[in-house]
Amino acid sequence: MQIYKGIELLGGIDPDCNVYLVDGELIIDSGTGNYFGDMKKEIEKLCNAGNIRLLVNTHCHFDHIGGNKKFQDWLKLSIAAHSADKKSIETGNGSVAELFGQKARIMTVNKTLRTGALIKTTNFMFEVLPTPGHTPGSICLYEKSKKILISGDTLFENAVGRTDLPGGDRDQLVNSLKMLSQLQIEYLLPGHGSPKKGGVDFLIKQMINFLSESKKI
Ligand SMILES: [Zn+2]
Repeated sequence: MQIYKGIELLGGIDPDCNVYLVDGELIIDSGTGNYFGDMKKEIEKLCNAGNIRLLVNTHCHFDHIGGNKKFQDWLKLSIAAHSADKKSIETGNGSVAELFGQKARIMTVNKTLRTGALIKTTNFMFEVLPTPGHTPGSICLYEKSKKILISGDTLFENAVGRTDLPGGDRDQLVNSLKMLSQLQIEYLLPGHGSPKKGGVDFLIKQMINFLSESKKI
């Protein structure tokens, strides 16, 4: 489903995360791998899959990385992630695969994403923003000129990611949201659920308040 000109939302069937295909060149997250066959067919319909060279993981959880190896085997692409989640992705420790009734798959992260790194496709230029809280190496991808934020499990349409899993940290999540509140965001493309257009700055403020208030109880 096209959700922005050049960005397709693939999969996203529970318990998979949303998988985004950008310009037929870049994949964001890979789901559990359960629906890999369906995604492969869809990708082949949408673009020349041979042009996809990079898969970026927004963080280390199994519902976002479980399909990495299948994509790697199929397209020989590189996997990129933040250094703080690299080990969890590679070893499966901290990927909470057991929550999905599955075993982690051993894999290699080929590229480590630094703060401010730029990920370019034909029509987009995403900046890597570390947003720890849901996991230590959670990232968002921000397209400044188009005001698009791909938020992983940091921020959803009307919620934030949980912080009670290994490596989760509520205070860090609040700080990450405060950083995001400084940005101009028109389109929110979250790791689960529906994309959201408009009202994102209000949503972020609500979530900061919610996290700060619930802490006091
Ligand atoms: Zn997650």
